[in-house]
Amino acid sequence: MFSYRHAFHAGNHADVLKHTTLIALMKYLTAKDTALSVIDTHAGAGLYRLDGDYTETSGEAREGIFKLLSKEKVPEGQKKRAPFAIKKLASTDVLAPALQDYVDLLRGLNPQFAETGDPAHLKIYPGSPFIEQQFLSGRDKLKLFELHPTDFKSLNGNIEQLGVGRQVTVAREDGFEALKTFLPPPARRAMVLCDPSYEMKSDYARVSACMADAVKRFATGTYVVWYPVIPRPEAHDLPRKLKTLAVKASRSWLNAVLTVKSSKLTTDTDGEVVRPGLPASGMFVINPPHTLKADLQAALPQMVALLGQDRNAGFTLDHGG
Ligand code: SAM
Repeated sequence: MFSYRHAFHAGNHADVLKHTTLIALMKYLTAKDTALSVIDTHAGAGLYRLDGDYTETSGEAREGIFKLLSKEKVPEGQKKRAPFAIKKLASTDVLAPALQDYVDLLRGLNPQFAETGDPAHLKIYPGSPFIEQQFLSGRDKLKLFELHPTDFKSLNGNIEQLGVGRQVTVAREDGFEALKTFLPPPARRAMVLCDPSYEMKSDYARVSACMADAVKRFATGTYVVWYPVIPRPEAHDLPRKLKTLAVKASRSWLNAVLTVKSSKLTTDTDGEVVRPGLPASGMFVINPPHTLKADLQAALPQMVALLGQDRNAGFTLDHGG
C-alpha cells in the first residue's frame, strides 16, 4: 500500500485520455445554470512538476502530453518515416475541440508555454483536482479525497494557494467510503471521478461496489471511472461489471479505450524480458452527457495518431442506454 505516486505518471497517455474526457465533462456540466457537486475520490497531489525528479525519471510524460503538444511540429513527411501505419496529424491539422481545450488549460497554468508555444516551457501539469476547479463557478462545490500522507499534504497546500475557501475541501479519507456520505448531493447534480491506483487487487471490486452503491443512492449522477487495460482478470472484468450495473439500473453509459502499444512482452538485445508498461486504459462513464460521444469521437483518433507507439495503437468507443 502507498507505493503508488502519481507524480511518476503525470501527463502520460492515460492522463491524456482521462483529463481530456474530464475536461469535456466539466465543460458541459458547468455550463448549466444550476449548482454542481464534484467529488474526486482519489485526488492525488493536484499539481505536478514536469521537470521534477519523479516525472523526469519515469519519462512517461514524454510518451503522453509532450507527444500531443509536439503536434504543431510534426512535419507533413513524418508519416512516411513512421515504422508503423499510424497516420500522424499534419502540422496544419486542427486539434479536436476537446484536445484543444486541454492544451488551452495547460497554457493557463504555464504562462511561458502560452507565450512561446514551446512544449519545453510546459513545467506544471494539473491533476484532476485542478482541472475540476478551473471550471467551477461560485455555486459549485468540489470535494477531494486522498489517503497518501505526502500527496495529501501537497494537495492541501496546492488547494490552499488558490484561496477559494470552502468551495473546495480536501480530506485524508478513504474516497470509496467517503463518497457514500455525499450522495445524494444537496444540489441534486453531481459528477464523481473515481480514479484509484489499482495498487491493490481489491481496488477493482471496490470500484464496482462503490459505483453500484452510488447509483442506488443517486441515480442521475454522472459517474466516471478510469481503469487500466492490462492482462489481469479483475481489470478485464471491471468495464463489463460497470456496464452490467448501468444496464440493470437503466442508466446510459459510455466506454472509451485508448491503446498506444502492444501488451506483449518483448526481449531486449541482451535477451532480457521487457515488460511493456501500461499499453492501454479506459474511461467508463455512467450517465454521460449526450455531447461526450461526439467529443471523444473527434479526439480519440488524434490521440491514436499522436500517441500511438506501434501498429497495435487504436481506440474503441462504445455506448448504450
Ligand atoms: N485523480 C488523479 C489525477 O487524475 O490527477 C490521480 C489519482 S492517482 C491515480 C490515485 C491516488 O489515489 C493516489 O494518489 C493514491 O495515493 C490515492 N489513494 C489510494 N487509495 C485511496 C483511497 N482508498 N482513498 C483515497 N485516495 C486513495
